[in-house]
Amino acid sequence: MSAALARVFDLHAHSTYSDGAYSPRGLIERAVAAGIHVLALTDHDTMAGHLEAEEAARELGVGFLPGVEISVTWQGKTLHLVGLRVDAGHPPLRAGLEGLALHRQQRAFEMAQRLEKVGVIGIYDEVLSLAGQGMVTRTHFAHCLARRGLAADVRDVFNRYLTPGKPGYVHSTWAGLETAIAWIRGAGGVAVLAHPIRYKLTGSWLRRLALEFKEFGGQAIEVLSGQASPGDVQASAQLAKRFDLLGSCGSDFHGPDQGWPKLGRLPPMPKDVTPVWSLWPDAEALGSTFPPAAF
Ligand code: AMP
Ligand code: MN
Ligand code: MN
Ligand code: MN
Repeated sequence: MSAALARVFDLHAHSTYSDGAYSPRGLIERAVAAGIHVLALTDHDTMAGHLEAEEAARELGVGFLPGVEISVTWQGKTLHLVGLRVDAGHPPLRAGLEGLALHRQQRAFEMAQRLEKVGVIGIYDEVLSLAGQGMVTRTHFAHCLARRGLAADVRDVFNRYLTPGKPGYVHSTWAGLETAIAWIRGAGGVAVLAHPIRYKLTGSWLRRLALEFKEFGGQAIEVLSGQASPGDVQASAQLAKRFDLLGSCGSDFHGPDQGWPKLGRLPPMPKDVTPVWSLWPDAEALGSTFPPAAF
């Protein structure tokens, strides 16, 4: 791929179908404004937004890949797997995501019950109404609690209420690693280990994770992720090379005011890492009808 034709990929972003601030259409509009050529919508445990995003992407001439960010429990820890270019209609994936959605609803109820015990009354309806038709997430709780002035900001709410050991935290058992990879692969997609450095695993645990992920059919890891430092990028790139995994890049954009990174603003893929889009022979054509405004 020549430099002049280089495509700008952002393969990890959220909409109002999970904890993002913009609708799928709004997200696509912002992707165009940011000079992105190919965007993947990767909401938490749902693909409900992809038809709206696909329609908007077609109208606005930007490349779009249907994706999902699946919550996984591995060795008692919560991990996130991104599935890229997945067929949302694949029955095992659909059934799996429905199960996770139900789990999210039950967890939200339990979280609200726990918060009542520390004097946060009547938050459940507020949270559900904020989540609307999308997946209910801890981010929705954080916004409602922050709105009530119970902490300085969303991050502070997480630290005080929503993380392990804190009053609103409920332990979850999400999908198994092997199972989630099988859903993604079965649906024709590419399984990507999201933001590998954010799990705060030791080097040996991270290598063990990469090995199992690869053995179960995982193909890529996010070498470039929104909040990653240059050191994180280097560590992820090393992991990719050591385990012969492709490199993905995604901002993990949620919205303008959440302290999250900007859509499409990522450094270039390290030269010695093979990008995940090498799997897609049509990648250069994706979004090619849109003039590359960023250059
Ligand atoms: P959930 O999957 O419902 O447990 O929610 C996880 C989501 O919460 C993540 O995808 C982030 O968007 C958000 N999140 C997790 N930790 C924090 C934090 N410390 N500050 C702000 N947002 C966070
Ligand atoms: Mn999120
Ligand atoms: Mn994530
Ligand atoms: Mn994400």
